Amino acid sequence: MCCWLLAAACHRPAMQNARRDIHPFSNPEQIRVRHLDLDCEVLFDRKILKGSATLSVDRRVDSGAPPLILDTRNLRIEKVEVAGETGAYSATKFELGAGDPILGAPLTISMPPAAAKVRIEYSTSPEASALQWLDPAQTFTQSQAIHARSWIPLQDTPGVRMSYSARVRTPKDLLAVMSAVNDPDAPRTGDYNFQQHAQIPSYLIALAVGDLQFRPMGNRTGVYAEPAVVESAAKEFEDTEKMLKAAQDLYGPYRWRRYDLLVLPPSFPYGGMENPGLTFATPTILAGDKSLVSLVAHELAHSWSGNLVTNATWSDFWLNEGFTVYVERRILEKVYGRPREEMEAVLGRQDLEREMAKLPERDQILHIDLKGRDPDDGATSVPYEKGALLLRSLEEKFGRERFDAFLREYFNHFAFQSITTGIFVDYLKKHLPGAQTQVPLDEWLTKPGIPASAPRPVSDAFTKVAEQARRWAAGETPATKIETAGWTTHEWLHFLKSLPATIGGDRMRELDKAFSFTRTGNSEILEEWLIIVVRNRYEPAYPRLEEFLVSVGRRKYLKPLYEELVKTPDGRARAAAIYKKARPGYHPIAAATVDGILK
Ligand SMILES: [Zn+2]
Repeated sequence: MCCWLLAAACHRPAMQNARRDIHPFSNPEQIRVRHLDLDCEVLFDRKILKGSATLSVDRRVDSGAPPLILDTRNLRIEKVEVAGETGAYSATKFELGAGDPILGAPLTISMPPAAAKVRIEYSTSPEASALQWLDPAQTFTQSQAIHARSWIPLQDTPGVRMSYSARVRTPKDLLAVMSAVNDPDAPRTGDYNFQQHAQIPSYLIALAVGDLQFRPMGNRTGVYAEPAVVESAAKEFEDTEKMLKAAQDLYGPYRWRRYDLLVLPPSFPYGGMENPGLTFATPTILAGDKSLVSLVAHELAHSWSGNLVTNATWSDFWLNEGFTVYVERRILEKVYGRPREEMEAVLGRQDLEREMAKLPERDQILHIDLKGRDPDDGATSVPYEKGALLLRSLEEKFGRERFDAFLREYFNHFAFQSITTGIFVDYLKKHLPGAQTQVPLDEWLTKPGIPASAPRPVSDAFTKVAEQARRWAAGETPATKIETAGWTTHEWLHFLKSLPATIGGDRMRELDKAFSFTRTGNSEILEEWLIIVVRNRYEPAYPRLEEFLVSVGRRKYLKPLYEELVKTPDGRARAAAIYKKARPGYHPIAAATVDGILK
């Protein structure tokens, strides 16, 4: 997702006016990295990357020659050299500081006054938090939030943007792809080159290597996946071009040339990651009926909200995700119609309320304080769904036409910049006068809970579904007589969410016999069903529960299921036994989440 076609707008540099990001050690206010040149070899036998990162820097202040401080985590630094704009490299002093469990370790590099480039020779560790190594040979990175530092020494803050180039060497039979424009026709040589001309934050630098095939879906859209999956993935995502067009109609030009998707193995810890030009996606959205492609709309929406206009710190994460959920639903509405959008919105609000009931007050705040915490802790449904509700609230107050024009101009004005919540608020007050009184802005941004005036999305289809669930629960309709003809995944999900908390064993069996929930291949429906299974100790589904938790590593599924399991002593024992088998297959980010639940 980079700017080949349009020059980056020249507004205030990112981070001006910005509250300092608390999650890097690095010192971009003194020296700022503007380009990364990565040269690395992917060593599957040792589960490491080995090579060099050459950083081009700009000095920000005229204060002599401050050192360059970079973020690292578990990197082995071999050698550090510096050079002027032209001329040869020479060795310089460097020091790797003490490690912090959340932040990693600062790498402090002496920078003589004329130094404009620094080259670091290094290797990663097999425990790098961004990387997962799989068998057969496949590996991928997940840099968001602060994991880029575990595979590249850099200024790991979303407030610093850089372009990058990369040379990646792999075993000959494998293909490497990156968060840049990938050449679908690249021959398999084991030696690949990439250019990302746009200025992007470190968390969007991404690499995947594996036995990947490519299938085009349109002139500028396509899918990379393992051979067994690539055909079905291309079919599932065939509406991508339509979504791209819908998004452009709403919010202005797509500035990243190509939009491709990479389908990863089931252990990918997220639904998707909006790596520019190449969304990384979980295979759990391959339902066979396009019912879960809202994820594609979501990652595509990030091409505007997040990748183009970026949160300057992880406390401003809602600027990425709240905007993206809102844009995602507008895309879905344009492509699939309003009823589909409303179903997604209702489910979103249900998820938010369900999770908020369990969250401490400090985590219910949009502009969250993450001092002393891992930014991954802030990735709850609050920045996503509460953020989207705030935007929907503004839309309802100001009308769609006016709010759409506002958003289009917002994306244009801040294109290729990283901004804070404060900068957004100033812009909002100026360009939508009265916004702070029309909606209780301060309450939205700084208080826990959901403001009473927040929109309550309604879906007529769901109202009918809820009535069916009520009738079944009241014993008025047997499961076999529930009118499910034509139900979409969303309606099935709403049905499951509408069931009473306690269901007896016979009634669980009745539902399962009628609808085969335990055997469903739709991961969203299975997840919702398995939560009910755990809550009601429905033993016939336990083998499927175990199979799901061992084979899938998507954090969104693991977290609620393990949390439900640990509520009872026997559930906790079951969770521990399953986790013992499952943990080696989880990505380090997912494992860290489950470690926290089972501790
Ligand atoms: Zn997102």
